[in-house]
Amino acid sequence: MTRSAIVSIVSTILLTAATQGSSAQQRVLYQQTEYKGQEIGRLTGDVYYARMDDYLSVFMVTPDGIVLAEPIGTEFATWLKAELGRRFTVPVKYVIYSHHHWDHGSGAAVYLDTARVIGHEAMLKRLAMPPAGTALPDNTRAQDTNGNGQIEQAEAQGNIKTLFALYDANRDGTLSGAEVTRGPLAYVHPPDLTYTDRISINLGGKRVEVIPRPTAHADDNTIVRFVDGTNVLFASDWITVGRIPFGGDVATKDEIALVKTVESLDFEHFICSHGMLGKKADVTANIRYREELRNAVTKAVDAGQSLEQAQASILMDAYKGWEFYEQQRPVNVAGTYRALMNGK
Ligand SMILES: [Zn+2]
Repeated sequence: MTRSAIVSIVSTILLTAATQGSSAQQRVLYQQTEYKGQEIGRLTGDVYYARMDDYLSVFMVTPDGIVLAEPIGTEFATWLKAELGRRFTVPVKYVIYSHHHWDHGSGAAVYLDTARVIGHEAMLKRLAMPPAGTALPDNTRAQDTNGNGQIEQAEAQGNIKTLFALYDANRDGTLSGAEVTRGPLAYVHPPDLTYTDRISINLGGKRVEVIPRPTAHADDNTIVRFVDGTNVLFASDWITVGRIPFGGDVATKDEIALVKTVESLDFEHFICSHGMLGKKADVTANIRYREELRNAVTKAVDAGQSLEQAQASILMDAYKGWEFYEQQRPVNVAGTYRALMNGK
């Protein structure tokens, strides 16, 4: 599978000269679950996982350098870079983004002294700053108590308060409508190599495949296949392991078909960016959940059940042991109900 490989790597001009300050993003800002601690472990051959609490990244070590998926954040990247330096004699040569979300894409700047940063082309528009005059989004306007069109630190509430520094791209201590609209992306460095069609990175005699899979969760979604021994697949957020998938769009025809394209790839180990380590069977189970959910909601709709009745009756009992069952099952049922109503 060496076709078109390197050809489609397109160099992009850095859109912004904004520096990626060295301040750490504390672990407490990230989603917290029962998974705790920072660790590195081997998966197969020269492919390893690295954990920060609920978050996982994967890297491959070759004689010519390291290929890393998912920087996660500045604090974690700083820790991991030091650990890699201690354990291996080669630097990180490539960092591959799974998607632009702050809790996965932050921190790549830590590796810029040795690494190129790769992301799907669609990531660039996600990171672009909206025009200067952009108004505060409707759902944040109430926070602007002095009515000056901006959110000062003292005004900020909820998520914007917690992640204030991540919204404040120009670090002037106040959030413009453009900064709030863009999101908490101050620590996400724009990719300096973008791609749209599958590419392969060949480094030190080994291969890593960078594969586009735009999803409902992120239109710049990338999955990564580390070709080494039994092979490892990394897919962020989207295909969960022993965990109910997040959100409403999990059992549309398109989404189920997309997960099946992942299952058809050659790999043994499967790493979602969250929770427990997985195997290919976990991807198969994830598909089974989505299909059973779709079937159950289809039956409920055919029986004339309302959305509320469907949420109350479709319990997906076989998946009670999966993480986030209580939180995400009703969301999944509701989203699937609406999708079926819309012919999706
Ligand atoms: Zn995400």
